[in-house]
Amino acid sequence: MIKVYKLTFNPFQENMYILADETNEAIIIDPGCYDAEEEQTLLRIIEQYNINPVRLVNTHFHIDHVLGNQFVAQKFGLAVESHAEGKVALEMVETSASMYGFKGYKPSPEMTVTYEEGDEITFGNSSLRVLFVPGHCPGHIALVSDSDEFVIGGDVLFNGSIGRTDLPGGDYATLEKSIQEKMYKLPDNYTVYSGHGPETTIGKEKKSNPFVRA
Ligand SMILES: [Zn+2]
Ligand SMILES: [Zn+2]
Repeated sequence: MIKVYKLTFNPFQENMYILADETNEAIIIDPGCYDAEEEQTLLRIIEQYNINPVRLVNTHFHIDHVLGNQFVAQKFGLAVESHAEGKVALEMVETSASMYGFKGYKPSPEMTVTYEEGDEITFGNSSLRVLFVPGHCPGHIALVSDSDEFVIGGDVLFNGSIGRTDLPGGDYATLEKSIQEKMYKLPDNYTVYSGHGPETTIGKEKKSNPFVRA
């Protein structure tokens, strides 16, 4: 049984997730903690629930999703893991950090573990299945738990919305294809935990998403 902890950080109100199972081993996904206060909030949750982070995975490398990469990687001795095609986006993060005024940005370590569609990411007794869902950002992945019936979707699909495609490497047709051919192929009852905003379900978005219908 995977427990999902959601923390919303930084001026972009980005959702980071901690997934922990009964062994207390956990994956940290998209750590967006920016200042010391947010870092302490993250540490408090980890201590309070006795969580043992064993992986750091990014759904994609936009500034709001990697602000806490260095902190988490150093604190817990973790490598940065994502899709190999995200490398170009990760290389651009420092430029966008100064563009968006994140003066205190601590550069993310380089990505040293890469995944492809269909790979399994393991922790404790659990595993997540990798979906390759580009369009919002090059190399974007989503992480599916079939045992607990949810997907960590990053910035691909939101409650009533979809990811923007006007940032470097974004492409609307590619995003639409990722949503229709990957996300919407998941069972209707799967919860979608998005990179911004509240949760939704695959079924709800297939029926009522104003941008991409099944
Ligand atoms: Zn993004
Ligand atoms: Zn985002």
